[in-house]
Amino acid sequence: MYVLVTNDDGVQSPGLLALRQALDAVAETVVVAPERNWSAASAARTLFDPLRIDPVPMADGREAFVCSGTPGDCVALALLGFLPRRPDLVVSGVNIGANLGNDVSYSGTVAAAREGTMMGVPAIAVSLDGRRHDDFGPAAAFAAKLAVAAVEHRLTPEVVINVNVPNTPIRGVAITRLGRRVYRDELVIRHDPRGRPYYWLGGGEPEGDMREGTDTAAVANGYISVTPVHFDLTNHRWLDQLQQWRLDV
Ligand code: MN
Repeated sequence: MYVLVTNDDGVQSPGLLALRQALDAVAETVVVAPERNWSAASAARTLFDPLRIDPVPMADGREAFVCSGTPGDCVALALLGFLPRRPDLVVSGVNIGANLGNDVSYSGTVAAAREGTMMGVPAIAVSLDGRRHDDFGPAAAFAAKLAVAAVEHRLTPEVVINVNVPNTPIRGVAITRLGRRVYRDELVIRHDPRGRPYYWLGGGEPEGDMREGTDTAAVANGYISVTPVHFDLTNHRWLDQLQQWRLDV
């Protein structure tokens, strides 16, 4: 098995290192990751600047490739010819912080995996519901186990497997649907030393939907959440509704 490993937190993330080390036990790996943190950049791609890619040692001395572009650029560049051959799988993560429910539309971690599937390579995204200094080992170990299962069961690129691992003792694995994230975004207005206002978008940690079967509830209850997601955003119920609007010209 040959696996492309990437992330959105940047090549020096401890989550990427843990993921690479766990996957090394079951696969040949290559890392192509962004040089800086692109969290919440979703599927951004660079259209108007050249891209650079350079070898760089990871914290354990193994070689990785660092790319000047976004997570999506990393995967596209790797699959369009930088890699000597096509990988069997793209694994993105381990992200620092959960990507649950609506988070997947912001997530660079999930977008990097999706970029793989758009190019025909099956993909997995893995996130830890934790912070930078937490232990990424259990999430990385589960990712390696899932990678083996994905190849064995012939995972197809019609789906991205989105995994979220709790940062508490793990009680099991739950196959879930996306829940709803309740963001507490707020606008903070401050003034710079010249008196001009600047704005900071953000807020506290989002809350999750506790309905049974959701990824948000699973992680809150101590389960590793495994959600198959796809990116047909069509609202099928509204196809009929819009027909009633009689918009013909
Ligand atoms: Mn991130």
